[in-house]
Amino acid sequence: MKDKFELKVIGKIVSPIIDTAKMPLQGVEAQAHIEAKFTDTLDGIDKHSHVFVLCWMDQARRDRLKVIPRRHGGENQAKGVFALRSPARPNPISLNTTRLLKREENILYLENIDMVDGTPIIDIKPYSTGWDCIFSAHNNSTYNTYSKMPAADVLADMLRQAGNFHGDCCVGVAIGVRAAFLALNHFKADLQDKNFTIDAGVRGCTADALQSLFSMSNKRFKCGELEDKITFTKNGVKLKLEITKDKFHSVEEVLTAADEKVFSKIGK
Ligand SMILES: [Zn+2]
Repeated sequence: MKDKFELKVIGKIVSPIIDTAKMPLQGVEAQAHIEAKFTDTLDGIDKHSHVFVLCWMDQARRDRLKVIPRRHGGENQAKGVFALRSPARPNPISLNTTRLLKREENILYLENIDMVDGTPIIDIKPYSTGWDCIFSAHNNSTYNTYSKMPAADVLADMLRQAGNFHGDCCVGVAIGVRAAFLALNHFKADLQDKNFTIDAGVRGCTADALQSLFSMSNKRFKCGELEDKITFTKNGVKLKLEITKDKFHSVEEVLTAADEKVFSKIGK
């Protein structure tokens, strides 16, 4: 068996971020500039709303077997690099799953790319909901992880998860994210804990956000009769919320408003 292979660089990332330390956790909008000689490889890609982008992280260390994850705020124990998405790994290949905003010839416009400017691209593949989306999968969005992250990063992480499920990040989704964030801090538990149930008299967008963040099928998620009221229950403990009648105009407004602005009642 060969233990070395040769990769061809097929293009590079063009990003406003040039310093890895300044990259937001959720990445930024960036472009994949595919080399002109590979333009034909992109024919048909515009049929897909989302793609995988694989890059070679040429600045990453390849000699580390364990690292402390960045988003854990440095307080957690080191984990094996294959249990993390850290750039440090024997083969520093990155995998971004991202919305394809548009294609212009050999340029792809992408969302949520956390590769810095100039990072070499080694492959692009279409994302398939049937094969690649495992809604019931468990990941590390646990209370333990979230409790060590700044609130804004937790909200951004939740918004991305919920938005991926719903199809876009609207005001209703953001309200669901705020409700889930209150539940996270109230119960101090993993949202995917199977002992959670939700009774929610909410419209589609907020319901989608809650179902996705709690990995909940209709068995544990009940669409309640009481409009704008959400009750979370876990092992007999409850958190009851009532969504304000005030109207919000943007996702940002919902995410940054005080709790009492988003919920007219917060109680047990
Ligand atoms: Zn919506």
